[in-house]
Amino acid sequence: MTSNPPISRTSAQLEDRYGAHNYHPLPVTLVRGEGVWVWDNQGKRYLDCMSAYSAVSHGHCHPRLVQVAQEQLSKLAITSRAFYSEWLGIFLARACELTGMDKALPMNTGAEAVETAIKAARKWAYTQKGIPEGQAEIIAMSGNFHGRTTTIVSFSSEPQYRYGFGPATPGFGLVPFGDIKALEQAISPYTAAVLVEPIQGEGGIIVPPKGWLKAVAELCHQHDILLLVDEIQTGLGRTGKFLACEHEGVKPDGLMLGKALGGGIMPVSLFLARDDVMAVFEPGDHGSTFGGNPLAARIGLEALDILVEDQLSQRAALLGEYFHSQLLQLQHPLIKEIRGQGLLLGLELDEKVSARGFCEKLLENGLLSKDTHETVIRLAPPLIINEAEIDYAIRVLAMTLEGI
Ligand SMILES: *Cc1c(COP(=O)(O)O)cnc(C)c1O
Repeated sequence: MTSNPPISRTSAQLEDRYGAHNYHPLPVTLVRGEGVWVWDNQGKRYLDCMSAYSAVSHGHCHPRLVQVAQEQLSKLAITSRAFYSEWLGIFLARACELTGMDKALPMNTGAEAVETAIKAARKWAYTQKGIPEGQAEIIAMSGNFHGRTTTIVSFSSEPQYRYGFGPATPGFGLVPFGDIKALEQAISPYTAAVLVEPIQGEGGIIVPPKGWLKAVAELCHQHDILLLVDEIQTGLGRTGKFLACEHEGVKPDGLMLGKALGGGIMPVSLFLARDDVMAVFEPGDHGSTFGGNPLAARIGLEALDILVEDQLSQRAALLGEYFHSQLLQLQHPLIKEIRGQGLLLGLELDEKVSARGFCEKLLENGLLSKDTHETVIRLAPPLIINEAEIDYAIRVLAMTLEGI
């Protein structure tokens, strides 16, 4: 017997009934977006302070991105890397030029870019550094978030991300984020790479001590270890510089980009590296059916061009400072700390308040956000936000805090 899904139920009800429960969405069904605003199926408008975890830095449905995407979509979308295509070379050249890296390898999701970095670092360790095959170690940071593959969750310090998904992939160590002494002690002759986020996003918008990343880079350099910087969330203007590691004058040996690289339209990610690191890959070593497809390359290129032409990094620095100062003026006893850099901000609430419940109230009051780590409210709007829109966010936050 066959039965069609009953159409009398809403899409949200069908999602709950037929979808895996690996997310717990806030009770709203979004149908349209424009710039920093989104609308639900009742026509109610919300300010988006989530930006799909920074994937929508350009704002929803950016006209230039929609236009190039539509043009490319009706011309040629997917070819596979078995052939050259029109935009990939131009996209990779632009990404290398803007990041100071030598070469780039295109993938789709952030986790795939991180997996690519891990494979590159291991093969580099065996073929260039002389570490015995199968012995390479990568040191990551406690509180990290690098994605959800079985290998990546193997070195998560979050028990829920790991529990039930073992056996864990070996070859990873963890040290406390921001602790240079602990890192120095963890380094061994088998260390191939150190993997870091300049600011831990998922981990709760944690900013390390000033000078830490610079010291990590120096340690890596001294010991001939690759510094792999995951800028999937912090990169592309989010923190007020094109790359967050520029705040410390650090140049990574390997760099991961994703999220905003797809212009808020589709998944596009890159692993970028020094020539001698990327040289480990030979035809057949690694790949992706969709990675670097013409549609992704065209959108990625436009996304980079818009970031530069519209000076979105500078905007994030200025508007981030404004947002931060307005948040400080709220001076509410339930706000314990305001953290972050540029337009990657986190509000640490008193433990008495449920961050999830707080986000539900923000939703009622017209603002989208998401809690992270029980007590932190993420405030990361599209980088195109203006002062009046930040004032709106502050009014909603003030009203919501008063209602508790
Ligand atoms: C989101 C994120 C990832 C994973 O990206 P996906 O596209 O979800 O696979 C990796 N690293 C960081 C720092 C992220 O924020």
